[in-house]
Amino acid sequence: ALSYHRVAQENRNLYNMVQDLKGNIRVYCRIRPSFVAEAINVIDFVGEDGSLVLLDPSKPHKDGRKVFNFNRVFGPTATQDEVFKDTQPLIRSVMDGYNVCIFAYGQTGSGKTHTMSGPSCGTTKDMGINYLALNDLFQISNGRKDIITYDIHVQMVEIYNEQVRDLLAEDSSIVKLEIRSCTSDSGLSLPDATMHSVKSTTDVLNIMKLGEVNRVVSSTAVNNRSSRSHSVLTVHVHGKDASGGKLRSCLHLVDLAGSERVDKSEVTGERLKEAQYINKSLSCLGDVITALAQKNSHIPYRNSKLTLLLQDSLGGHAKTLMFAHVSPEEDSFGETVSTLKFAQRVSTVELGASHSNKESSEVMRLKEQIESLKKALANKE
Ligand code: ADP
Ligand code: MG
Repeated sequence: ALSYHRVAQENRNLYNMVQDLKGNIRVYCRIRPSFVAEAINVIDFVGEDGSLVLLDPSKPHKDGRKVFNFNRVFGPTATQDEVFKDTQPLIRSVMDGYNVCIFAYGQTGSGKTHTMSGPSCGTTKDMGINYLALNDLFQISNGRKDIITYDIHVQMVEIYNEQVRDLLAEDSSIVKLEIRSCTSDSGLSLPDATMHSVKSTTDVLNIMKLGEVNRVVSSTAVNNRSSRSHSVLTVHVHGKDASGGKLRSCLHLVDLAGSERVDKSEVTGERLKEAQYINKSLSCLGDVITALAQKNSHIPYRNSKLTLLLQDSLGGHAKTLMFAHVSPEEDSFGETVSTLKFAQRVSTVELGASHSNKESSEVMRLKEQIESLKKALANKE
């Protein structure tokens, strides 16, 4: 029987072939606008081609200029909609059965939460990727409702000091959720975290508000804790078509802890412990993505809670997008260098570039087949 499922399957075959040529890991860089009008800008030039030039303020001559390349660079004037537009194809592929992870990386104050959530809850102006993504998924679901029925659920957790906390629970003070292997019965890596069904953007706004409130509750104990924990919003998608074909996928939207190094000589106790956990989990994330990009046989997922939690969505045919956020001001230069280096390390730009124009005859054949299946499906309706 001809079904949506079949078209989706062929789409996936095609995508997998193209990805074998290009790689599944993307890195976008976003530069926040400067808040200080008279500040010296250390990021000089943002190219259309995904490059930027970093200026070392201590070396005013030519050798102080360093070029970095990414899949895309968004300058300080880029809008939320522009950023979303380049993220949309990835998000849409979740509806065809792909697992996707999107990360926001960068020092505190560089714009991670702005990109993922937007300026604040309670207003829908300048909403970030989390909201725009779910809005898009609802629209796709609605557009396909005659051929496939989707169910969308969300979970939201925080990882702080290597402990997982449910941000959508009645009593969110309960910590230490257990992470299961993705091969468990439920197929969920966090079977005990509260799962909410969402059917509209209003549902999404309510969930985001609840998550934000629960996150803030604990920050009275440790000041501004949210910048020192990772928050993970997971969107689970289930689809079923008339012929019984099923698909199941998830989208992880991750606002990472601030990547800034703390001065160890000044920091003790709880704050030092936090810093060590953050360093460990971020470097572990970098190791996992690098190992995947290099197609290593061993991927060190088990070295942190974050990578363990995301294991089923990192690698294989899953897709990864990292937003590396940088601040343009001179006093952030040191952190900006370290963010750009980290991002360059996980980026596969160079690997992908040499292949990007080649399409095998098999890819062409699959493209044609998908087109004819789509037509046949349209005629059937
Ligand atoms: P982070 O989550 O990385 O700590 P935030 O997202 O909270 O950083 O950003 C710090 C401040 O800068 C916030 O007031 C935020 O609204 C603002 N900001 C960040 N990026 C942008 C941007 N692209 N355009 C306008 N304001 C921004
Ligand atoms: Mg933040």
